[in-house]
Amino acid sequence: MLNDEYEELRKTVEAFAREVVAPVIGDYYEREEFPYDIVRQMGAMGLFGLPFPEEYGGMGGDYFALCLALEELARVDSSVAITLEAAVSLGAMPIFRFGTAEQKRTWLPKLATGQMLGAFGLTEPGGGSDVPGGMRTTAVLDGGEWVINGTKAFITNAGTDITGVVGVAAITGENDGRREISTILVPSGTPGFTVSKKYSKVGWNASDTRELSFSDCRVPAENLLGERGRGYAQFLQTLDEGRVAIAALSVGLAQGCVDECLKYVRERRAFGHPIGHYQAIQFKIADMEARAHTARLAYYHAAELLLAGRPFKKEAAIAKLVASNAAMDNARDATQIFGGYGFMNEFPVGRFYRDAKILEIGEGTSEVQRMLIARQLGLGDL
Ligand SMILES: Cc1cc2nc3c(=O)[nH]c(=O)nc-3n(C[C@H](O)[C@H](O)[C@H](O)COP(=O)(O)OP(=O)(O)OC[C@H]3O[C@@H](n4cnc5c(N)ncnc54)[C@H](O)[C@@H]3O)c2cc1C
Repeated sequence: MLNDEYEELRKTVEAFAREVVAPVIGDYYEREEFPYDIVRQMGAMGLFGLPFPEEYGGMGGDYFALCLALEELARVDSSVAITLEAAVSLGAMPIFRFGTAEQKRTWLPKLATGQMLGAFGLTEPGGGSDVPGGMRTTAVLDGGEWVINGTKAFITNAGTDITGVVGVAAITGENDGRREISTILVPSGTPGFTVSKKYSKVGWNASDTRELSFSDCRVPAENLLGERGRGYAQFLQTLDEGRVAIAALSVGLAQGCVDECLKYVRERRAFGHPIGHYQAIQFKIADMEARAHTARLAYYHAAELLLAGRPFKKEAAIAKLVASNAAMDNARDATQIFGGYGFMNEFPVGRFYRDAKILEIGEGTSEVQRMLIARQLGLGDL
């Protein structure tokens, strides 16, 4: 059960999602437009600062608070939720965890208040699952500056009008025959850093996703995030946490499907009854509720371990795996329950259907989650 503080937050975000996001987000989605006004209001509510201390403009909360907010937003819309998730978990959190005092002072107050969005560029056109193997982006020190060359693919929040900084993972050398990977902070607008036009996507259509290219892009040596050569360890930790957040977002989508169906099956009639009268429909909704509930328990557990400072890699992977499954299954069932209207963009379930698939892909595919779980079970070295 949630304590009073968490419950208060959950209710506030639930009301915001219902009253502010729900009435307008379908139109943003149709126009494939980034919802600046909603994001500004989320900033004013402190959502971008939930897990950061007050000295950096944050709310002094924790990662679980962020997850609760993500779940409530995603019950209504995933584009808005992923904008928050990527900004906090991928953009700001690495600076908070690994940045120097100066980097934190420079970036966090703007990121934590939502005045500026951050992004994290890890994936490349040549591969996202096999990150060290597929990485081609390089950064070389030259006269007190990093010179970055390469391309990043599918980067969330990288090209909005309020994007301020992107953490770029790059090969910075070799150590004992292994690639040395480091993260370098690249401010938006740096010469040599080009942001492509938006991708045309299947879902998350009101969120910003771009390809980024770096051509002799120079930033000061001080823009190295944390220690040189720690980039791989940094993003493993970042992604472990991010999986808990994506699990929360997935649970939100799964629950949103239940919410919409509970309303619809009371109103829609067939063969003389509301369709909710029929057991086939009732059982579908019962299964949907069971999936959302069990997936929620999985992410609550992973978040509990995370907050306690205990190992949570396996639990985060399990939460992401089962929650993204739940989102996919519920979106499919909800669309079926809505019949022809489920295929129409005017109803949220159609949007849920299009938004669910990426949850099995982003921040580690379901296959990658299974690989992580198997490794944690000691099967990695067989
Ligand atoms: C909308 C969107 C937003 C994104 N936002 C970001 C972002 O902000 N930052 C960022 O860095 N990235 C981002 N990504 C990238 C995302 O994390 C990657 O797409 C994802 O990790 C998968 O990488 P890939 O697309 O290169 O697929 P690949 O790695 O090419 O995988 C292709 C298929 O092969 C499977 N596969 C790979 N290796 C194995 C194996 N060993 N065993 C079994 N199966 C395997 C995969 O599971 C997958 O099914 C985003 C992607 C999208 C679509």
